[in-house]
Amino acid sequence: MTNITIFLGPPGAGKGTQAEKLSETFKLPHISTGVMLRDHVENETELGLIAKDILNKGNLVSDDLVTAMLIERIGKPDCDNGAILDGFPRTIAQAESLEIDDLKIKNVILFEVNEEELVKRMLDRGREDDTEESIKVRFEVYKKETAPLVDYYSNKGVLNSVNAFGEIDDIFNEISKFMKL
Ligand code: AMP
Repeated sequence: MTNITIFLGPPGAGKGTQAEKLSETFKLPHISTGVMLRDHVENETELGLIAKDILNKGNLVSDDLVTAMLIERIGKPDCDNGAILDGFPRTIAQAESLEIDDLKIKNVILFEVNEEELVKRMLDRGREDDTEESIKVRFEVYKKETAPLVDYYSNKGVLNSVNAFGEIDDIFNEISKFMKL
């Protein structure tokens, strides 16, 4: 049984930073579908060629493609004891595709934030897909496609919220408490 922890929250909320730290401390792989997709784009794989424009515009890659990529990754032996998912699921359909035997959604951490502050942070970060236009699209997509996952996981009794605007170490400590539950 693979115990899954999901980091849920809008773009720029610090999910990647925290996932990186927690992955080291709890010896669990950090799986970021955004990083995996950017690797595909860089390596000009078949998936990368399909995903490139979608990423640059801030839209979502299709559920089927991302889910296949993720399920294959979770099947690797380093995930036997669990994994931290950062950026997946992003739609209800993706969440449903995780409802399979051998996977247990142990914990969903919701990063709570203030949108204005986030946009500022993202423009500072300066990633290639962080243009003002694509940031706007990504927030719209988040609200429409991903925010419904808050109720979805809350109803399952696995949702824990953290205030994502504190100090990195305070947020880390807060999440660590939930990881030990
Ligand atoms: P991120 O690094 O998590 O912000 O993801 C960067 C981009 O990758 C997103 O804006 C989407 O275009 C794409 N992406 C990442 N994860 C997913 C996912 N679960 N479903 C669809 N698209 C995704």
